[in-house]
Amino acid sequence: MRLSYSKLSAYEKCPYSYKKVYIDRVKTPYKKYFSFGHSLHAALEDFYSGRLSYWLGLKKPSKENLISALRRHWKSEGYSSEESERAFEEGRQILENYYEVFVRGDFSPAWRVEPQFSFSAGRHQVGGFIDRIHRNDGGFEIIDYKTHRQIPEKETLERDLQLPIYYIGCTEYFRKKITAVSYIFLRHAKKVTYDVSRFDVGRIKQRVEMTADRMAGESDFRPRRNNYCGACDFKNECGLFNSA
Ligand code: SF4
Repeated sequence: MRLSYSKLSAYEKCPYSYKKVYIDRVKTPYKKYFSFGHSLHAALEDFYSGRLSYWLGLKKPSKENLISALRRHWKSEGYSSEESERAFEEGRQILENYYEVFVRGDFSPAWRVEPQFSFSAGRHQVGGFIDRIHRNDGGFEIIDYKTHRQIPEKETLERDLQLPIYYIGCTEYFRKKITAVSYIFLRHAKKVTYDVSRFDVGRIKQRVEMTADRMAGESDFRPRRNNYCGACDFKNECGLFNSA
């Protein structure tokens, strides 16, 4: 089975909605927050790619360069024109703040932006894209941007498979020594870094493989209540949600 973090995570949250999205391919209404997240990610990808420095001969791109990148990559799908302007302003403030916290004192282009990776877990193949891989002291750091309004609880983040999967992808696919893995919560200009020495590759792969085996053999796809039920596109047809 070919898997991504998004598929695994969707199945772990709720097999019923996973089936609707990934197997039945039910078209769901486009969400504004997809546009917002995409725009911020694309601006940062451009900013760290080294293209700006290359084109403009800059050692360090300016805050205005970052905002120009946001303007170039702004996606207004799902917004009315007024909403789009307000959302762009919000994005601009987020990136200005980001620049002050993460760039002003220390900038270098990424080693890679949005590189694709894959690795095997038993008979399954896991792949995906990483927002940014950066050189740091003694190795490389994996960075993933988040646009959450609220930073999830520490325990929720620690249980999540995303960074462990990226860690394995980088060590096995790129054969790089990863010394840190981090989320950057853009709305909060906050970086949360994890010590990679706690990652047990064997156990992570085992968890991925067991979940993938369950997915491959699944026939019921029963709904499973979770923290995202309120925003689920299938809640009106979901017996579990409506039995609450
Ligand atoms: S509302 Fe139902 S289908 Fe949607 S995520 Fe919750 S349990 Fe799953």
